[in-house]
Amino acid sequence: MNQKTIPDNIVKLLSRVRLAAQKSQRSAEDICIVAASKTRSSDTIRAAHQSGLCDFGENYLQEALDKIEDLADLNLCWHFIGPIQSNKTRPIAEHFNWVHSVERAKIARRLSDQRPPELGPLQILLQVNISGEASKSGALPEELPGLVEEVMGLPHITLRGLMAIPAATNDESQKTQPFARMRQLLREMQVIAPEMDSLSMGMSNDLEAAIAQGTTFVRVGTDIFGPRDG
Ligand SMILES: *Cc1c(COP(=O)(O)O)cnc(C)c1O
Repeated sequence: MNQKTIPDNIVKLLSRVRLAAQKSQRSAEDICIVAASKTRSSDTIRAAHQSGLCDFGENYLQEALDKIEDLADLNLCWHFIGPIQSNKTRPIAEHFNWVHSVERAKIARRLSDQRPPELGPLQILLQVNISGEASKSGALPEELPGLVEEVMGLPHITLRGLMAIPAATNDESQKTQPFARMRQLLREMQVIAPEMDSLSMGMSNDLEAAIAQGTTFVRVGTDIFGPRDG
């Protein structure tokens, strides 16, 4: 991984996002790039921030807490995007701005209970297992209405939307369908919870398809930082 390529990578990424937004008559400002920075060092994150990124997504709690502390001098917005064990909710509630990977009401309740009220509500997204893969995290689409009803009234979180990681494919024609389904699911959930206004979907190899289906967050690792070493 070569830190010198980060500024160029970010310039290219911003133009991809701008072009994709234009094609769907959307404003690029409505699409937030979350740099998926798992396994990357604090210095690497600093380099990405110098090139204009402010939002970082982390998957592993201890690694994330170390970086949040190292980088406390920057005004970064931290997103938790990895699987959540219920005994790890407190530090997540205390140190993050957004959580994209909530899949059970129990986790949402703990995050709400443990969120320090002076920080304001934690912004959360419900992760959906949109490709129905047995091995994947996320609530099934049919579980969503019940989950939304349980989560929407909790006092110290704000339910903002849905997140998904569809099954990987290199077939362009297969990329759109799961994202279109997510857009439809968000519309259905907005009937129950009108404050839901966000979608987190699209990564390095499918962000154009996600932007065309209305995503508000793309989570990008490889195309900013290069391949992960393992
Ligand atoms: C690592 C990761 C990403 C970024 O994936 P890339 O293919 O490297 O862009 C996005 N979302 C989640 C949840 C991740 O864990």
